[in-house]
Amino acid sequence: MNKGYIFNIQKFCLHDGKGIRTDIFFCGCNLRCKWCCNPESWDISGEHACGAAAYTVDEVVKEVLKDKPFYDKSGGGATLTGGEVFCQQEFAEELCAKLRTERINIALETSGYTERENFKNLIRLVDFVFIDCKHYDDAVHKEGTGVSNSRILDNIKYLAESGRDYCVRIPVIPYYNDSGKDALSFADLFQKTGVKAVQLLPFHQLGEKKYADMKIPYLYKGFSQLHKEDLVGYAKILSDKDIRVTIGGTL
Ligand code: SF4
Repeated sequence: MNKGYIFNIQKFCLHDGKGIRTDIFFCGCNLRCKWCCNPESWDISGEHACGAAAYTVDEVVKEVLKDKPFYDKSGGGATLTGGEVFCQQEFAEELCAKLRTERINIALETSGYTERENFKNLIRLVDFVFIDCKHYDDAVHKEGTGVSNSRILDNIKYLAESGRDYCVRIPVIPYYNDSGKDALSFADLFQKTGVKAVQLLPFHQLGEKKYADMKIPYLYKGFSQLHKEDLVGYAKILSDKDIRVTIGGTL
């Protein structure tokens, strides 16, 4: 049986989908966002992540099922997150298939950076998709994350047309995508692609210490955190274009 590298299984999560959830953090990511708060997840073997281990699907499912009464009462379930789940797609698909037989609601958090065919194959197994859109401009996206946004925008378009439940997330980052002009450009992009629901995630500094622990430079040192109230104007620019906007990690 395949094993998956997981760096955390976190119980009682309230911000990554509906109800009470268990978040399953996958190791591995093919982006290198300069503001990433989980740099310990980048290596697929979990080399830098304290507590990372190889799990079988059955071991993860057993952990998830321990809280089933809470999911049933709250409308919650399991959320696959990372790192980037698509870095371990085969394991993720096996896990989702098994969770579905146990009638567990599944949410997926993804950067969306994968081929369309891969994307389709995994999202057909989940109930809700959170997909990031970090920048509308390809050159700036590359500068901030190390990769082009073309696959991501292609997958967002597919989601918007698919009729599936989803939400596009913008991590709002100081001096990167936080201006009114940026909000307007995102709104134009979403109108063209048919995106109707967006969640704004305010920049925070929760990952700072991890960079010091891993002895790699942290480029956002000293930048002020953003708060919900800082993004009200940004949200209004999007909602004025008929896009449903929430701020922060709940729906
Ligand atoms: S996609 Fe997420 S986990 Fe990967 S580098 Fe960016 S913020 Fe970090």
